[in-house]
Amino acid sequence: MFNALVVDKDSDGAVAAGITEIDDSQLPEGDTTIAVEYSTINYKDGLAIANRSPIIRSFPMVPGIDLTGTVAAGGGRDCGVGTRVTVNGWGVGEQYWGGLAQRARMTSEWLVPLPESISTLQAAAIGTAGYTSMLCVLALEEHHVVPASGPIVVTGAAGGVGSVAVAILAKLGYEVHAVTGRPNEADYLRALGAAEIIPRDDLNGDPRPLGKPRWAGGVDAVGSRILANVLSMTKDNGCIAACGLAQGMDLPASVAPFILRGVTLAGVNSVSVPYERRLVAWQRLATDLDAAKLDAMTTVVALGDVIRVAHEILDGTVRGRVVVDVNA
Ligand code: NDP
Repeated sequence: MFNALVVDKDSDGAVAAGITEIDDSQLPEGDTTIAVEYSTINYKDGLAIANRSPIIRSFPMVPGIDLTGTVAAGGGRDCGVGTRVTVNGWGVGEQYWGGLAQRARMTSEWLVPLPESISTLQAAAIGTAGYTSMLCVLALEEHHVVPASGPIVVTGAAGGVGSVAVAILAKLGYEVHAVTGRPNEADYLRALGAAEIIPRDDLNGDPRPLGKPRWAGGVDAVGSRILANVLSMTKDNGCIAACGLAQGMDLPASVAPFILRGVTLAGVNSVSVPYERRLVAWQRLATDLDAAKLDAMTTVVALGDVIRVAHEILDGTVRGRVVVDVNA
């Protein structure tokens, strides 16, 4: 028997999450069983566990869009028994049972072997949020935004995606401007490498079609008015990688930045990224993310703390990344 966080719906339609003991025979079908060491709490996990948004497609569900651990049985491709792996996205924790349990079963096609220098704890600390940040950085590079192009703006900077993006971009030599609604996190963001702290309210006004050009590029985790304002202040031929909706799903922008400044809005969806690009992202994380900075942004909690933290992440009070030690 082992512990799993299970979200279930009763006959009256009420949804509740709780820790339950299950065994291997109750795991879903799949060619690979993983001894899970760590999972994480991303914004999407908060939505799923608190039932604030229809993230979970079928009940009962083990949430957790990330997991790290070792292959206990089965495996495939580069991931035989004993390989240290990470799984991010692919609908785990939404359509398929996810990482918030001591064991998981799924198709081997979703496994990515960890680079030698990244521990299972560090890989969980990176998780979907950090790996998405890396995908955003790759998008900026592919659109020729380099450190010499000018400052880069990161929104939702004290959150998971934002913290990792600030750390990676700073290490790569970019001048990073961090947008945050939490002025008390300014020292934290400077320690990650932010050169300038921008209060969220500065970008919360009614977006104009074009504003004074300030940034060569950006990583946006919040969407809505802030993304619209960022686009209006992006320099000629700049690129904003958009991955999140912490402020909202709308985008009250005009086409002016696209047609008058050649700005690119690059969408990033980490869930269904092909295997080869995942390998590239994880290899880059091994070299471009400072381990000490990753440590500084990581809090480790136990499975029993998950429901509390799920609500905290939706309230915007979680800083950086939260790792769940499923065996604690
Ligand atoms: P976090 O909750 O850790 O961070 C979100 C941050 O956004 C907060 O810390 C806060 O930063 C800021 N924020 C919160 N509420 C608001 C608001 N009302 N207006 C403006 N800013 C706000 O979440 P993650 O970093 O894990 O995820 C960020 C977003 O990215 C989420 O929407 C998530 O769903 C999405 N995402 C998308 C992925 C993809 O594949 N496309 C993958 C991973 C995440 P601060 O306090 O500094 O202002």
